[in-house]
Amino acid sequence: MDDCVFCRIIEGKAEGTILYRDEKCLVILDKFPISKGHMLVISREHYNDILSAPDDIVAHMFLKAKEFATAAEEKLNANGINIGANIGAPAGQIIWHAHIHVIPRYKGESRDFNFKTKNALDAKEAEGLKRLLGR
Ligand SMILES: [Zn+2]
Repeated sequence: MDDCVFCRIIEGKAEGTILYRDEKCLVILDKFPISKGHMLVISREHYNDILSAPDDIVAHMFLKAKEFATAAEEKLNANGINIGANIGAPAGQIIWHAHIHVIPRYKGESRDFNFKTKNALDAKEAEGLKRLLGR
């Protein structure tokens, strides 16, 4: 897709630092890194997000995320890693092509997001969510 920057990088029509490439995915450096070594695992084919991509592609992408997270620990001396995907605008998705962030973290550096909350899960809400989401 010509209007997709990741497709353009894959096709060599836009600049990108490609670390790895196979038949299902690529690993590139994020152009706007939030930490040293911030990488993206992107699907080779265009899908709007990882929920739209076939299971085998998503599984492969997460295995590559694990592999490159390990490389960040070993080669960059990262002290921690965030692995995640933003799906949909409310979750912060900006580029509509399936990708997984691999964000190395270093002791003493501030994070630009956290999972802090003051509200414990309500028992009644937990029961309702279990009915909706439980398998
Ligand atoms: Zn694309």
